[in-house]
Amino acid sequence: MIERFVLCSRGCQHWGALGAAGVLLRAAADPDPRYLLVLRHPRSHQGGTWALPGGALLPGESALAGALREAEEELGPLPAHIPRAHPPARAYVDDHGQWSYTTLVLDIGTMFEPSAANWETADWTWVSARHALTMPLLPALRAAWPALTDAV
Ligand SMILES: [Zn+2]
Repeated sequence: MIERFVLCSRGCQHWGALGAAGVLLRAAADPDPRYLLVLRHPRSHQGGTWALPGGALLPGESALAGALREAEEELGPLPAHIPRAHPPARAYVDDHGQWSYTTLVLDIGTMFEPSAANWETADWTWVSARHALTMPLLPALRAAWPALTDAV
């Protein structure tokens, strides 16, 4: 049974027996790159915080494939210029033991306007790495932000 909560080695509960993955899209054409964040709906888990599109992995799915599948569920179809086959610019694994969350940083040339297809996505925005630190980020994303973007 894949779609269930698992208890990790740190004692917290996570959705998805195979771990989870998210994607940090970086519009790198600008000298001050912009990152796409999504606002979690108030009724969702850790609602009201800014996070990354992503979610639980399915059997046989790579972290990149799972993160992109979840991103399209939350944001609508992603534009063709998003790299789906290239290695990500960065990969960051938050390993809790028995469960992990992989964040993949993908360089895309230019920003695009998502359609916010899913009720869980209350809003979205493109922000600089430094500006993101002034926003109420999901605590796990806040912790990983320096490793993902170099902003501290
Ligand atoms: Zn945990």
